[in-house]
Amino acid sequence: MILPSDRMIVGAVEVVRLLDGTFRVDGGAMFGVVPRTLWASKAAPDRENRITLALNGYLVRTPGSTVLLDTGVGPDLGRRYEDFYSVDRRPGLLAALADLGLGPEDIDIVVNSHLHFDHCGGDTVRTPEGAWAPAFPKARYVVQRGEWEQALHPVGRDKPSYLPARLAVLAASGRLDLIDGDGPIVPGVEAVLVRGHTAHHQGVRVSSAAKTFFYAADAIPTAAHVDLDSIMSYDLYPVESFDAKRDLLARAEAGDWVLGFSHDQSIPFGSLRRTRKGLDVVPAGRSQKG
Ligand SMILES: [Zn+2]
Repeated sequence: MILPSDRMIVGAVEVVRLLDGTFRVDGGAMFGVVPRTLWASKAAPDRENRITLALNGYLVRTPGSTVLLDTGVGPDLGRRYEDFYSVDRRPGLLAALADLGLGPEDIDIVVNSHLHFDHCGGDTVRTPEGAWAPAFPKARYVVQRGEWEQALHPVGRDKPSYLPARLAVLAASGRLDLIDGDGPIVPGVEAVLVRGHTAHHQGVRVSSAAKTFFYAADAIPTAAHVDLDSIMSYDLYPVESFDAKRDLLARAEAGDWVLGFSHDQSIPFGSLRRTRKGLDVVPAGRSQKG
């Protein structure tokens, strides 16, 4: 179900959080060097020290295009991963899309922040014959070239995060659009590298009528991660994550941007507020204040 708090108007663009479901991850791994006594007050852990996270995608409806930012774990993740991460896909991203009266064929562009399984699982579906096919039959899939190469040839520490067998079909479809660094995707929507989680991790900036929404993806997975020290242990390059997040937050604060978070359950849209203790997030309303 799409709640009023899942929608945001950014100038002439509508942005909607599409929840693919939830999963559970070790709380310590999510907050890196921050001690449990500090992060547990923001995210209550279960008996196994895990916290519940959302699998967020964002639908961006510009006057000319319908764009999907990240696709969650998708319907075909497989039991091993679903059990390990206690994945609960109710209702799932396609059901959320259907709530808006849209089907997979209505998506013009899919942008993946990166290709970890919890961000691109819904890019592909299993056919009745057991093969993989693009889940959005008319969409162009926009991915950073470096991220694509990493995903198809993961090594060492990367291996469990990527599922290359199901991605190859995107290249075969002829609709894979590999980009290099920052740049426009469609008018008002642009790719912006925010490095650190992976070497080529990207965010997406949506601008309209002098207002900005920024999907920071795993650079700021939850509102609690605006705290500079809260960097996931999953990040491959934590020092780069720190610098990229600091720079991003400075721009976001100066420009009064609304942020979208890849894994925040309760705050799909947040504005920054400076307090004596530092930066804080306040949930953003249905339309960005002028
Ligand atoms: Zn990731």
